[in-house]
Amino acid sequence: MSKQNILVWFRNDLRSQDCETLYRAAQIAQQTGAQILPCYCFDLAQFGQTSFGFAKTGAFRAKFLIESVANLREGLRSQNSDLIVRIGDPAEILPELCEQLAVGAIYYHAEVTTEEKTLERKLSSICKQQNINFTSFWGSTLIHPDDLPFAIAKLPELFTHFRKQVEANLAIRPPFPAPKNLPALPKTIDIGEIPTLAQLNLQSPEFCDRTITQFIGGETAGLERVNYYLWQSDRLQVYKQTRNGMLHTDDSSKFSPWLALGCISPRSIYAQVKQYESDRLANDSTYWLIFELLWRDYFRFVAAKHGDKLFYRTGLRGMNIPWKQDWQRFELWRLGKTGFPLVDANMRELAATGFMSNRGRQNVASFLAKNLGIDWRMGAEWFESLLIDYDPCSNWGNWNYTAGIGNDARGFRFFNINKQAQDYDPLGEYVKHWLPELAPIPTSKVHQPWKLLPIEQKRFQIQLGVTYPHPVVDLFASAKSNEAIYNANE
Ligand SMILES: Cc1cc2nc3c(=O)[nH]c(=O)nc-3n(C[C@H](O)[C@H](O)[C@H](O)COP(=O)(O)OP(=O)(O)OC[C@H]3O[C@@H](n4cnc5c(N)ncnc54)[C@H](O)[C@@H]3O)c2cc1C
Repeated sequence: MSKQNILVWFRNDLRSQDCETLYRAAQIAQQTGAQILPCYCFDLAQFGQTSFGFAKTGAFRAKFLIESVANLREGLRSQNSDLIVRIGDPAEILPELCEQLAVGAIYYHAEVTTEEKTLERKLSSICKQQNINFTSFWGSTLIHPDDLPFAIAKLPELFTHFRKQVEANLAIRPPFPAPKNLPALPKTIDIGEIPTLAQLNLQSPEFCDRTITQFIGGETAGLERVNYYLWQSDRLQVYKQTRNGMLHTDDSSKFSPWLALGCISPRSIYAQVKQYESDRLANDSTYWLIFELLWRDYFRFVAAKHGDKLFYRTGLRGMNIPWKQDWQRFELWRLGKTGFPLVDANMRELAATGFMSNRGRQNVASFLAKNLGIDWRMGAEWFESLLIDYDPCSNWGNWNYTAGIGNDARGFRFFNINKQAQDYDPLGEYVKHWLPELAPIPTSKVHQPWKLLPIEQKRFQIQLGVTYPHPVVDLFASAKSNEAIYNANE
């Protein structure tokens, strides 16, 4: 049997639209009659523990992944094909499949971070020995790296410089159409079952009735969300004004979980935003959504440029700050018991849903690193475990940035939680939603319950230190002492 078949290895690109691997494989199959073998491996290395002992892929994220893989399979089935599913180490499974199915080429989308690159290298050397073409494509960013006005090694260290240079001549490639009528898989293949959470040693996340946004994995739900956010609800036109909201689903796009697993591509979103601009209106909000997607690109290119350093305690800047691994205080942060309602509400939302707004993430991350002085990697790993939109580049890049050890760090800057709470939750609706024990407190004190007089505590049925914690630190004194430590190590 001649080895001409193409195995399309799906990773964080769980889609059929704007999927170059599938598109190119379909082109070749049409010309040569080769078979296309779409495959997804649940890599058990991703279901172990993080270095601080959290589930590397927690239940929320795993559930979203399972749904996304199931949806990809449905989509492929509707085009006459199917998805081969396996559980284990892709470096063992893919070569076995290649041998069994006369595969001459593996097509995959390249990643940029350590674990993913290590796997690519391993597979590349096995493929070389077995005479299989191991061909990578790039499909994760808005801007293709070949279209950047600089080499990745010369990527500017400041986002603003990056943005200005790329915006000067923004060339976004059009999305690839989804291939239709794919060749059927050979009947003899064991297609494989999609694992359940239990098979991945995870329990179903408990449903929390406070959850406002329901996320369902997969390209279908992702495209529906884009359609809803732009065309049905018209929320795109006010995005810039609402995007910092923490409570309501439509405050921001909520595209991130589908982007993280590649259920939708940034180029498809871009194409729709441009369509919206020509059919409806172009304003600062339509610009701003693209601006945010450029942040996403930037973090991916930063990871590609700086490699492993993204994950080092010393960060991209190589700063040797004596971060504390204070588990007692970390637990207060993790469980939402710091006594600062804005931090606690966000941490409880994360634990209950696997999601948190951007405003929330910035505040809780700043609080952990700049007020508690705790090793920022503990926070980054907790996010990695929980976030359904976990993306190594965006997560670790943003943590570097917020902890002040990123490539573009400019001195010690911290979020004034009290001011942030006033600015972004002026009526206290968000904190009251996630901290029902604070619901009776009037707006003027809901963000600073430590200011309640004993008589008020009684009236509002709150007992500081019992029903809601005292603040774990003094906000300004703690920042000041951590600033001194930071400056001593600059
Ligand atoms: C400490 C920290 C950790 C984070 N971890 C992740 C992560 O693991 N995965 C992730 O996708 N985002 C991460 N972010 C970025 C941001 O918080 C989320 O992308 C955003 O909250 C997702 O909600 P949305 O889709 O409604 O965003 P919108 O405001 O609607 O933005 C549109 C899209 O732009 C991109 N985007 C927006 N802000 C950022 C940003 N700061 N960095 C990178 N991309 C951005 C996202 O893809 C997002 O979906 C993190 C931010 C912080 C401060």
